[in-house]
Amino acid sequence: MRSSKYTISTRKETPADAEIVSHQLMLRAGLIRKLASGLYTWMPLGLRVLKKVENIVREEMDRSGAMELLMPIIQPAELWQESGRWEKYDTGLLLKMKDRHDRDFCFGPTHEEVITDIARNELKSHKQLPVIYYQIQTKFRDETRPRFGVMRAREFVMKDGYSFHIDASCLQQTFDLMYETYNRIFERIGFTFRSVRADSGAIGGSTSIEFHVLADSGEDLIAFNSAGTYAANIESAEALASEAHTNVEPKQLQKVATPGVKSIDQVSEFLSVESSSTIKTLIVKGEGTPLVALVLRGDHTLNEIKAGNLVQIQSPLEFADEKEIIEAIGCAPGSIGPVKLKIPVTVDRSAATLINFVCGANEDDYHYTGVNWIRDCSEKRVADIRNVVPGDPSPDGKGTLDLARGIEVGHIFQLGTTYSEAMHATVLDESGKAVTMMMGCYGIGVSRMVAAVIEQNHDDAGIIWPDSIAPFHVVIIPINAHKSAQVGIASENLYQELNAAGFETLLDDRESVRPGAKFADAELIGIPHRIVVGERGLKNGKVEYTLRRNNTTEDVKLEEIISHISSRSG
Ligand code: ATP
Ligand code: MG
Repeated sequence: MRSSKYTISTRKETPADAEIVSHQLMLRAGLIRKLASGLYTWMPLGLRVLKKVENIVREEMDRSGAMELLMPIIQPAELWQESGRWEKYDTGLLLKMKDRHDRDFCFGPTHEEVITDIARNELKSHKQLPVIYYQIQTKFRDETRPRFGVMRAREFVMKDGYSFHIDASCLQQTFDLMYETYNRIFERIGFTFRSVRADSGAIGGSTSIEFHVLADSGEDLIAFNSAGTYAANIESAEALASEAHTNVEPKQLQKVATPGVKSIDQVSEFLSVESSSTIKTLIVKGEGTPLVALVLRGDHTLNEIKAGNLVQIQSPLEFADEKEIIEAIGCAPGSIGPVKLKIPVTVDRSAATLINFVCGANEDDYHYTGVNWIRDCSEKRVADIRNVVPGDPSPDGKGTLDLARGIEVGHIFQLGTTYSEAMHATVLDESGKAVTMMMGCYGIGVSRMVAAVIEQNHDDAGIIWPDSIAPFHVVIIPINAHKSAQVGIASENLYQELNAAGFETLLDDRESVRPGAKFADAELIGIPHRIVVGERGLKNGKVEYTLRRNNTTEDVKLEEIISHISSRSG
C-alpha cells in the first residue's frame, strides 16, 4: 500500500480537479455533502474534525493572549464605503445584498472594517494596547473558480485575527508572536509546512508571511533554497538576472523570413536556437501610456503580480487584445520584438543580459537574429517581471532555488494604518495626542485545513487522520456479535472502557454489514486505531489491533489494549 506522507516534488502545472484526493475522500467518507457550487454541509463525522481543528486554533490563539469575539456575518455597506473597499475590493468576490429598506449590505469576505469600527469605539488610550481580537467564523467569497470542495469554497470557515498598536515596533512584536502561534498550530495539526514571505519583502523584514502545507496538489508554487534561508511564494520570489555572456562577439542584425512561425517553440525549432536565446514580447495596458511592451527570455514566464506592481503598468495587469496590438504595432502577436518598437519597453533582468538573441521583427512572418540591446533597440527599462525557475540563484545569495507546490493555510499581515487611517481609529498617546493605531491581521483557513490534512495523509484505502483531529480515535469491529454473546459483551465493555479512558471510540455494531465492508469503511474514514473483537481471540484473552497509519496488525491482550493504543497514539 502506498503511503502518501508528503515528499517534496517540483511539478509545475496547476493540479486538475480530479487530482484533489481530499475532495473525493471527503465525499466518499461522508464528511461533507455538496449543496451548490462552493457550498458544503459538514456532516456529523466531518464536523467532528472541523471542530477539533477549530479548537486547536482557539487554544493556541488564547494561549497567545488573543481574545475571541464574534462579529456579524452581514456587514453594512457604509463601513466598506468608509474604507474605500465597497468599490475597490476584488469586486467579483464581494456578495452584495439589500435589505427590505433598500439599504446595502454584504456578506463578509473578511472583517477589517468591522473590527476597525469596534476598535475605534472601544479603544481610547494607548494604555489599552496592544490588543489582539479574533473570531472563528463563516466567510463568503464569490470565488471565480470554486473548486476542490472545501479547499476553495465560496462559503468557508476562517479564523481571522486583528491586532491594534500604538507604533510599528509593538506591531512587529505581535506579528512575531502570531508567527510563533501559527507554527504551534500547524505543528499540532501534524502538517509538513513552510512559512514563506508573501510580499516583495523590502529590506528590514517581511510584513506578510504565508503558511503553506506542502502537497503536490497545492494551487500555489513556492520557491525555496536548500539552505533553508529563503522561501517565498512564486508570486513574489525575486528573480535575479542570469549571468551575461560577456566576451561574445556581437553578430550582425539580420531579418529572416519565418512564415507561420509564432510561438517560442516554433521559433527555436525553425531557427535552430535554444529558447533561452530568444525573447518574447507581451503587450499590456500601461499607466500613463496606452500600451507597454514586456520582454522576457523565451524560456521564462511572466509574473503578472510583479509586472502589475510597476508604476508604468496598469494594476491588475491587463493584456492588450489583438486588435489593439495590430493598430499600435502593425503586426500580430507572435511577430513582435523590441527593435524599433514605438511603445515603451520594460525588459526582464535576464532578457536584458542577452547577446545575439532572436526576436520578432514587428512585421508578420519575420524575425530578427543577432539582436543586441544597445545597438539595435531604443530606450528600455529593466525590471524583475518573471517567475523564478528551478536553478535560479537564491535572492539571499545562498545557493539556488527549487520549487514546490503548497496549499495556503494561513497568512499573517502587517496592515499598518491602511484601515485605521481611512476609518479614523485613533487612541490618545502619553501626551494626550490622538494617534492613528497600527494594525495587523492574521488569517487561517480552518475548513481548508481539513482538506489539506487529507492531502498529506491518505493512501489507496482512504484517509489516515492524525490522532490530534481524528473524528474518533478508535473503532471497534465485533465479528459475528449477533451469534456470539461473548463478542458482543466484550466489545461493549471495551467501548465503555476506552471512552472512559479518554479515547473517542466508535463501535461498529451494524448487523447487516459484513466484517470486510466494515474494515473498508474504517479505513476510508481513517480512524487511527482499529480493534477487531472475535471469538477465537477472546478464547486467549486477546483482540486484534491495527494501526491505520502503517496497517500493522498485532494480537494484544485485552487488559493491555489501552496502554497499547496510548503507546501508538501520535
Ligand atoms: P487564496 O490566496 O487561497 O485565495 P487569500 O489570500 O485570498 O487566499 P486570505 O484573505 O489571506 O486568503 O484568507 C486567510 C485564509 O483563508 C487563507 O490563508 C486560506 O487558508 C483561507 N481561504 C481563503 N479563501 C478561501 C476559500 N475560498 N476557501 C477556503 N479557504 C479559503
Ligand atoms: Mg493569500
